[in-house]
Amino acid sequence: MYAPDFAYYRAGSLAEAGQLLQQHPGAKLLAGGHSLIPLLKLRLAAPAALVDIGRLDELKGVAVANGRVRIGALTTHAELAASSELATHAPALAEAAATIGDPAVRNRGTIGGNVAHADPASDLPTVLAALDATIATTGDGGGPGIAAADFFEGMMATALGDHDIVTAVEVPAAPTEQGQAYVKFAHPASRYAVVGVAAAVTVTGGTISTAAVALGGLVPTATRAASVEQALAGQTPSADVIAAAAAAVTADLGDDLIGDIYASAEYRRAMAPVCVKRALTAAVERASS
Ligand SMILES: Cc1cc2nc3c(=O)[nH]c(=O)nc-3n(C[C@H](O)[C@H](O)[C@H](O)COP(=O)(O)OP(=O)(O)OC[C@H]3O[C@@H](n4cnc5c(N)ncnc54)[C@H](O)[C@@H]3O)c2cc1C
Repeated sequence: MYAPDFAYYRAGSLAEAGQLLQQHPGAKLLAGGHSLIPLLKLRLAAPAALVDIGRLDELKGVAVANGRVRIGALTTHAELAASSELATHAPALAEAAATIGDPAVRNRGTIGGNVAHADPASDLPTVLAALDATIATTGDGGGPGIAAADFFEGMMATALGDHDIVTAVEVPAAPTEQGQAYVKFAHPASRYAVVGVAAAVTVTGGTISTAAVALGGLVPTATRAASVEQALAGQTPSADVIAAAAAAVTADLGDDLIGDIYASAEYRRAMAPVCVKRALTAAVERASS
């Protein structure tokens, strides 16, 4: 199906993109186009205008400074997957990006578009929730950005205002004693997450000093698994401790589990502890090596 008619503007700068959004009420930003164009073709969105930000170099790249990793909004999934900075300082993000879609999706899709679209089956919001990321936008007046826990408000709903543009995503650089992992049970065709789990576990002096675990694909928005995290805190890592913590995830799932034509809610509920266990096993192994 063809997309509905729309006016097209290519922004030459971030400032111009902001002006174009103000001038054309209801306009949508176009980044990699791999979520927006399908929506247009399915006639699920019909904006009168698109503002193309895809060529804004100021929004591209990964930089590490002062213990923080800053990723420009237009950095593609392929660039995340290949980034040596991310491999060292935020490996779960690189690992998750490498699992997204197929090479065409990874070469066009961007981290900014992925978080703004906020699909519950997306991979990056899950990792960002686990890593306590902040999302910087033109709406925050140069402030520290919006915490991931506040940014993702629900299914395809975010804290972004109508004219806000995501400029960057920031995560703390992982301490050397931390192991991170991302595991997903992927839809066989699209590779979207039926269940996605991100884990970051720090082992200090033989005990788990911090554990962050986030779930995606299961519920309307990326969510921290508080029961799993509590079951790990202060424990000596072992297969039994990991198994008990993974089983605790059922308490974090609530009643609004997603069920769709790909997998029922019951199936997702059964897969959740399996994926949590795999993610924790990998994260603990990496923390200890
Ligand atoms: C076949 C297929 C398979 C896929 N598989 C996966 C998968 O396995 N895992 C996964 O996570 N994703 C998957 N995706 C989605 C893909 O990652 C998208 O690229 C991504 O979700 C959106 O990024 P984009 O740059 O393409 O954004 P666009 O499609 O250009 O935009 C998406 C939305 O975000 C808004 N937007 C874009 N950039 C900004 C910004 N900087 N600030 C504010 N708003 C912005 C747009 O206005 C639009 O509403 C798949 C897509 C396809 C087509």
